[in-house]
Amino acid sequence: MVAGHNHKLSPVIVDFTEELSDGIYLFGFRRNFDFIAGQVLGIALEENGPRRLYSICSGEDEAHTKILYNVIDEGYLTPRLSDLEAGDTLWITEPRGEFTDNLNPAVWIATGTGIAPFYAMLKSGLGSNKTLIHGNRFLEQFHFYDEFEAVLGENYIRCCSGEHDERVYHGRVTGFLEEEPELDPSLKYYLCGNAEMVVETRDILIQKGVPFHQIISEIYF
Ligand SMILES: Cc1cc2nc3c(=O)[nH]c(=O)nc-3n(C[C@H](O)[C@H](O)[C@H](O)COP(=O)(O)OP(=O)(O)OC[C@H]3O[C@@H](n4cnc5c(N)ncnc54)[C@H](O)[C@@H]3O)c2cc1C
Repeated sequence: MVAGHNHKLSPVIVDFTEELSDGIYLFGFRRNFDFIAGQVLGIALEENGPRRLYSICSGEDEAHTKILYNVIDEGYLTPRLSDLEAGDTLWITEPRGEFTDNLNPAVWIATGTGIAPFYAMLKSGLGSNKTLIHGNRFLEQFHFYDEFEAVLGENYIRCCSGEHDERVYHGRVTGFLEEEPELDPSLKYYLCGNAEMVVETRDILIQKGVPFHQIISEIYF
C-alpha cells in the first residue's frame, strides 16, 4: 500500500542493515521523533519517490528505529531496500497509526513480518500478561524468539506450517486457534499480517465467542 502523500518526509541515514534469514531483513537508523509502539512509518528512497508503510520494529525508548521487512521479488521498494548499505539516505514520514496496546492482558496474533508491531510493544514494556501466537513457514524465521520467550514464557506459541519440531505447533495460527477449546471473550485480540490470515482468524475468533469489538487488525497486504 502506498502511504498518503500529504505527509512531509524527512531524510534519515541508515546505520545498519542485516539479512536475518532468507529474504528477511532488518535495518535501523537513529531516532529523532517520538512514537507509540504499533505505529507505522512511510518509507521512500527519494523524497518524492514511491512510498510504502512499515511498522516500527523497536521500542519507544530505543535510540535506533528498526524496520523488519521481507523482499517481494516482483515488488518495487523491497528489492531496492535490500541493496541499502550503512550510510545511505532514506526518506521517512512521521509515525502514525492506531494499532496500539496498553498494559492490560491481551492476545497478539501475527504472521511473518507482522510480528514487528508486537516486538515494538514488547520492547516498550507491554509484554507482561500477553499471549503471542506467531506463524511462519520455517523455524529460522522466528527471529525474536529468545526475547519474546524471556518475557512471555509458555505464552509465546510458535506455529510453523512448513517444518516439524517438538517445541512448536505444526500448522498455521488459524489451525492452532481452531483447536483451542475456548478463548477468553473479555480479552482484546490484536491481529497483524496478510489479509487472508486476518480475515480467517477474525472469523474463528467470532465463531468462538469473541465480540467483534475486541478484535483489532492491521493488514499488511
Ligand atoms: C499498515 C501497514 C504496515 C506494514 N508494515 C510492514 C512491515 O513492517 N514489514 C513488511 O515487510 N511489510 C509491511 N507492510 C507491507 C509494505 O507496505 C509493502 O506492501 C511491502 O513491503 C511490499 O512493497 P514493495 O514495494 O516491495 O512491493 P509492491 O510493489 O508494493 O507490491 C508487490 C505485490 O506484493 C504484494 N505484497 C505486499 N507485501 C507482501 C508480502 N509481505 N508478502 C507477499 N506479498 C506481498 C502486494 O499486495 C503487491 O501485490 C505494511 C503494510 C501496511 C499497509
